Amino acid sequence: MLIRDLIFWLSTKKTVTEAIAKRGMRYGFARRFVAGERLEDALAAGRELARDGRRISLNHLGENVSTVREAEQARDSYIAMVHALEHERIDGNVSIKLTQLGLDLSPSLCLGWTDQIAAAAQDVGRTIEIDMEGSAYTDATLEIFEAVRKQRDNVALAIQAYLYRSERDIERLQPLRPKIRLVKGAYREPKQMAYQKKSDVDANYRRLLEKLLDGGFPVAIATHDPAMLEFARAQLRARQLGEDRYEFQMIYGVRRDLQAELRRQGYPLRIYVPFGTEWCPYFMRRLAERPANVWFVLRSLLAETTR
Ligand SMILES: Cc1cc2nc3c(=O)[nH]c(=O)nc-3n(C[C@H](O)[C@H](O)[C@H](O)COP(=O)(O)OP(=O)(O)OC[C@H]3O[C@@H](n4cnc5c(N)ncnc54)[C@H](O)[C@@H]3O)c2cc1C
Repeated sequence: MLIRDLIFWLSTKKTVTEAIAKRGMRYGFARRFVAGERLEDALAAGRELARDGRRISLNHLGENVSTVREAEQARDSYIAMVHALEHERIDGNVSIKLTQLGLDLSPSLCLGWTDQIAAAAQDVGRTIEIDMEGSAYTDATLEIFEAVRKQRDNVALAIQAYLYRSERDIERLQPLRPKIRLVKGAYREPKQMAYQKKSDVDANYRRLLEKLLDGGFPVAIATHDPAMLEFARAQLRARQLGEDRYEFQMIYGVRRDLQAELRRQGYPLRIYVPFGTEWCPYFMRRLAERPANVWFVLRSLLAETTR
């Protein structure tokens, strides 16, 4: 836990993030988790993943924009991504973060921009997924999600098992029965709001997964945890659900062994593929999830500098 806190703390220090941002792509260590800086890089990764039938969800990295112009650029980029997926006939959708679409500036503008992306995707028969960010944004994210979802059924939402409130949020969404991406949660949250112990988060993940499956929600089981995967497979077998009701999801570059195993077993799998120049906060969260990744970064830096 200490190392995790240290990584989160470092991620708030501009000098540290700037140093990492300057070296990450050059030294190649960011490439493990980020497909590249350009959309073409992400599409190339998508084509590679499609070889064994993996679907993708593209994310143009960026969060907490501070101007209308930046938010509109993000919207335009997502609409272009939907068209590129269609043009290239890649089995994929897009994952968006509402703070990249101006949630800090104006929730109503953010709602409008989100709806425009959803509409563009719907026009070509594709879906969008809304990531869940830190707890300061949970209420606003749910409200915007509900408003868009009431108009269109091609929108999914991530729900975090570490938050105590998530069970109630699922109950609130029951009438809409949207596709839910169930994740453990990637931010640092206080004990007043979130389970702190892995065993408690895992127990809630299992509980929420059963609730979603029994409640008739289409579910994206988004985890790399072998115990959660085993539990999920048993639940799916017991319920004999069709493939329209579930898929597994994993992150680009994480547990590629388990990704391949799921595909070998014939399970539907979608890979979250991030790209873009603003990769540092995303990269730091991946480090915090698994401190061993820090050694991976240091090793690649050392290998480069001693060469
Ligand atoms: C497709 C997808 C979308 C996501 N969207 C969101 C979102 O919208 N909001 C949000 O808060 N979180 C999101 N997450 C992140 C999630 O909340 C967790 O932080 C992350 O998935 C790690 O949890 P875990 O379930 O894999 O289990 P953990 O218990 O954290 O890890 C289990 C095992 O997985 C492996 N592993 C996990 N993470 C890493 C890593 N970074 N590097 C290498 N190995 C690793 C390790 O072997 C580890 O022992 C998403 C995750 C996925 C897979």
